[in-house]
Amino acid sequence: MISKVLIANRGEIALRILRACKELGIATVAVHSTADADAMHVRLADESVCIGPPPSRDSYLNIHQIVAACEITGADAVHPGYGFLSENAKFADILDAHGITFIGPTAEHIRLMGDKITAKKTAVELGIPVVPGSAGEVKPENALEIAREIGFPVLIKATAGGGGRGMKVAKTEEELEEAVSTARSEALAAFGNDAVYMEKYLGKPRHIEVQVLGDGEGNAVHLGERDCSLQRRHQKVWEEANSPALNVEQRMRIGQICADAMKKMKYRGAGTIEFLYENGEFYFIEMNTRLQVEHPITEAITGIDLVHEQIRIASGGGISVTQDEIKFSGHAIECRINAEDPRTFTPSPGTITHFHAPGGLGVRVDSGAYQGYRIPPYYDSLIGKLIVHGRTRVECMMRLRRVLDEFVIDGIKTTLPLFQDLISNQDIANGDYDIHWLEKYLAEKPAE
Ligand code: ADP
Repeated sequence: MISKVLIANRGEIALRILRACKELGIATVAVHSTADADAMHVRLADESVCIGPPPSRDSYLNIHQIVAACEITGADAVHPGYGFLSENAKFADILDAHGITFIGPTAEHIRLMGDKITAKKTAVELGIPVVPGSAGEVKPENALEIAREIGFPVLIKATAGGGGRGMKVAKTEEELEEAVSTARSEALAAFGNDAVYMEKYLGKPRHIEVQVLGDGEGNAVHLGERDCSLQRRHQKVWEEANSPALNVEQRMRIGQICADAMKKMKYRGAGTIEFLYENGEFYFIEMNTRLQVEHPITEAITGIDLVHEQIRIASGGGISVTQDEIKFSGHAIECRINAEDPRTFTPSPGTITHFHAPGGLGVRVDSGAYQGYRIPPYYDSLIGKLIVHGRTRVECMMRLRRVLDEFVIDGIKTTLPLFQDLISNQDIANGDYDIHWLEKYLAEKPAE
């Protein structure tokens, strides 16, 4: 049994995990940098430990400090949230060596899925459909041959990739050399590893991902899909469950393929299998071996608390539901609220002078923000998530419109006005969009 969880994260996700622990009667330890001393999760935690100065590498990414904080407080488990150390196999290994439970998969599975070439090979072995592409690493010498085989346009991707970095499209043979070299140098700068691979570039796909849970013993379930096609610079902006593009048969078919794959690999914990979806076909792009930012929309339509499940699985208690017991009800949308200018997307840190979160049936706000909170400039600009649930997609959209009007965040710029625009758009109302839709919409939008 887990009795005290150290939350190795910050912001809204730290608060989200803290809430789940409290509900389960588990004690909580917050860790924070000096810049986050007045954060909400620090205020609400049973104990807190300052682990370093503002830069992440000295605090939230500092493994030694986090392990020391576990030892000082007697925490017997760590929840890594998303980002930071959540997909760091070395961290999982070190915790293991200290007899501390990592609330997540095995270090071996993190490694397997962390390298995208190995992940794709594994996906093929597990019966998951993948994007046609290079079998292994692409070098400047063999790039042209491989690209001709796949057929243009192609996409060069970093094997250590994440957050859309180190990704370059080559539409023609002429563009290839430069695309490979830019992708390699971007990958080196972002991940310290210049290895890249190549995939067929899909023209108008949707991004559809399947939520899975495994108990590590060969049992696994899927919790349906999320459609995260509305992206800017490969960053998700608005997510929906279910996808407006899938019918029940397609949902259950791809879900079953993913659950079966997780059973085969004896996956432990929560995970997300990401696909591009075009012309009725699914193409695996990657697996995230952690909780995702957009997990609440799955919780909204299934009624299952994914963090409860993660903790239960990590304690050896297995998954609380069988596949047959998982029912999908209604529709949910999440809007990511960033402290950014809604037109230029430049970060807008500062003090929140007024904060009023909306409420009512089917409304959830996950945020660590409050009136008087000073958003530090050192971290990701996500300051909250607005999640709305309705019995149908139409009801969900009507509710979202009402809720967006009610939400007040003053003193900084946020992306709330962007959602107010989107909610009135006909393509969005129809659910008719692909992964390029939002960028095109933003580029064509007349200046105010
Ligand atoms: P990262 O780990 O950097 O986020 P992903 O492989 O998850 O990289 O891809 C991120 C996004 O890039 C996808 O959601 C999609 O928008 C785009 N993308 C990835 N692979 C392809 C592809 N083969 N064709 C077209 N777009 C792609």
